[in-house]
Order: sequence, then C-alpha cells, then structure tokens
Amino acid sequence: MKFDIITLFPEIIDNYCSFSIPGRARKQGIITVNTTNPRDFTHDVHRKVDDTPYGGGAGMVLMCPPFYDAYESVQKVENSVTLLLTPQGQPFNQEKAVEFAQKEQLIMLCGHYEGFDERIRAIPDIIEISIGDFVLTGGELPALCIIDAVTRLLPGVLGKDESSVEESFYEGLLEYPHYTRPYDFRGMKVPDVLLSGNHKKIAEWRKEQAVLRTQQKRPDLWEKYVKEK
Ligand code: SAM
Repeated sequence: MKFDIITLFPEIIDNYCSFSIPGRARKQGIITVNTTNPRDFTHDVHRKVDDTPYGGGAGMVLMCPPFYDAYESVQKVENSVTLLLTPQGQPFNQEKAVEFAQKEQLIMLCGHYEGFDERIRAIPDIIEISIGDFVLTGGELPALCIIDAVTRLLPGVLGKDESSVEESFYEGLLEYPHYTRPYDFRGMKVPDVLLSGNHKKIAEWRKEQAVLRTQQKRPDLWEKYVKEK
C-alpha cells in the first residue's frame, strides 16, 4: 500500500510512521509513506501557500495552485483513491478503513488554517473525509488516523497475537473485556470463566460481553447490528 500525503508539515507524518505498527510495516515494505510539500510548488521567495479570503473574513485560505500541483506531481497507480481531509467530509469509520485497505494507493490532502480554496474539489474523483465532528488544526492527525487504521488491516502487518478480526467494529460490535495478571486487583477478580480452560465457554462469554457492552455503550451501533443481521 502506498500512502502519499500532501502536507505542509511532512515531519509530523514521517515521525508517527516511524514507530510501532506503522513503523514496522514500513520497514517490512508492506507500506510506503511519501510526503509532498506544496511549498515546494510555489514560485515566490516567501513560498506562500495561503492568502486572505475573497469577500473578507478571518483566517487564511490555502491556495489551489501549490496544492493542485503537488497533487499532480504524485505518481498514481491504477487502484488509487484521493481523499480531501475536511471536517465537512463523510465520517471515517472501520467500514471505510476496510474499503481503503483494498486500494493500492491512498493520496491524502491535509489542510490547515481556514482550509482549502473551494476549487481544490475539482481534483478528479476526490472523496471528502472527516474523522469526526470536531475541528482540528490541520489534516495531519486525520491522515495519520487513516494510515494507522488501514495499515492494521493489511495482510502480514499484525502478528497472530494482534489479529484485527476480534477487535471492536470488526463484526459491528465492540470488543469483549480483557484481563491479565494480577488475578486480584484491589478486590476486583478476573471472571472465573477465563480461568476455566473451557474454550467454548470462554468464546460464548466473550460474545455475550461484546453484545452487552455494545448495547450499553453504543446503542446506535447495536441498532445497526440488529438491522443488518
Ligand atoms: N474552516 C474549516 C471548516 O470550518 O470546515 C476548518 C479548517 S481546519 C482548522 C484546518 C484543516 O484541518 C482542514 O482543512 C482539514 O484538512 C483539517 N481538519 C480539521 N478537522 C478535521 C476533521 N474533523 N476531519 C478531517 N480533517 C480535519
């Protein structure tokens, strides 16, 4: 999987992707993470990428030419998708992560300041994606969330012990609770079934718990799960 990130702050992307699971996937060659800085596509001494908004108002707007040129400089592969990171986009979730994990390349444009000049949306087939109903300073954290969630789903990335198939959202439910040593922590004991050695019973208990916590914590997810089953 090729991740191509168009960003004014390439170090943020590079730094995060050098550690833990994304870092390992990168070293193993399962993913590549390339950054392109729109500032390298400016033609003035100040390397200006933003300007004041037409019509007035607060903040600076990202200019189309350096971002569009940066986008066009990225070498595209056949099965590629381009994402515009914006709080106005479709919500990112595990279903979208699974969908994006089928692609060969994800190109992501990270905004900053007041965001992009509207005409950036002329990039062919661009999909607007949001990571939630809140406003961040820039698109770098959203891009990293997507890189991370997608990378975890790629074959060979997670070891056997880290399998993604039992994680929250995999089957539309939240994951069951986990316990490790000590057996007794401040009077709170590990449920007996987990010590029983009976794998069938353990699997049943975990399914029950997954259902229960989805009903309690995320009634919206539970409703969707029931409808789709
Ligand atoms: N003025 C914009 C608005 O109200 O829609 C917000 C601009 S925000 C301060 C700067 C940049 O951060 C955006 O262009 C976008 O790339 C990124 N960003 C902020 N929040 C985001 C979110 N929830 N999801 C995806 N990208 C986000």
